[in-house]
Amino acid sequence: MTERPRDRVIVFGVDGVRYDTLLAARTPAIDTIAAEGFLAPVRVDDVAQPISGPGWTTVATGVPADRHLVYGNDLTGHRIHEHPDFLTRARTLLPGARTYAAGAWPQLVHETHGGPIFLGGGFLPGQAEDWNVLDGAVAEHACEALGGGDVAAAFVYFGLPDTIAHAEGPTPNYTAAVTTSDERIGRVLAAIRARPGFADERWTVIVTTDHGHGEDGRHDGDSDAERTAWIAATGPHVPRRAPSGLRQVDVHAHVLRALGITPRPEWALPGRPFTR
Ligand SMILES: [Zn+2]
Repeated sequence: MTERPRDRVIVFGVDGVRYDTLLAARTPAIDTIAAEGFLAPVRVDDVAQPISGPGWTTVATGVPADRHLVYGNDLTGHRIHEHPDFLTRARTLLPGARTYAAGAWPQLVHETHGGPIFLGGGFLPGQAEDWNVLDGAVAEHACEALGGGDVAAAFVYFGLPDTIAHAEGPTPNYTAAVTTSDERIGRVLAAIRARPGFADERWTVIVTTDHGHGEDGRHDGDSDAERTAWIAATGPHVPRRAPSGLRQVDVHAHVLRALGITPRPEWALPGRPFTR
């Protein structure tokens, strides 16, 4: 009988959260992660527009858009199979490892628009117009799956802030949506801490966004507000100070490090774990 693997990772993706709004919003869950580890801004790679398709594909695969070839929100023609997402790498390389993905942006987990970005698919909540309802369903499903199951690596996505900013710009409602997303992150983390085996597990927690937002409900330009994303992380190998030169591709590299997976030279991953 082999020992149950102790190393676990969860990555939360919150869509379209400006760094300045994150700092202004009430976010106790992310504040705790930042206090135990770090929170730092990252510049979205200039090879693609700062939009969701390339952004989340870069976070998932650990390579920039000129390698995964996702430049828009229709992913058709991508090379994700050559640069698989970190959940697929975990399932492929860790014997018996289970993974979990959930999110209401269909391209992440569902066969649509050339997706999914996470090749193993995942939980997509049912039809609803209201992103608050959709994200609530994702949080509930994630609490159940991660509170009880034996998942080694997970990605959980919340989309409400981006949809609010598209509708009305970076208003107080947008800031409130960031707080709502933080509450959902806090609920999922509380479910993980209540796991029967939690005391024997070593969890790494990463929270990140795909891009910022302009003043006008758009985020396809080159302003700092649009091009600035951020990463917050805590875990056994996460330093207390943000590594210099942090990039979105580092998320994938660090997930592998946290799971004890050594990248192969032929993957040519440009990202570096946060431990540097
Ligand atoms: Zn987005």
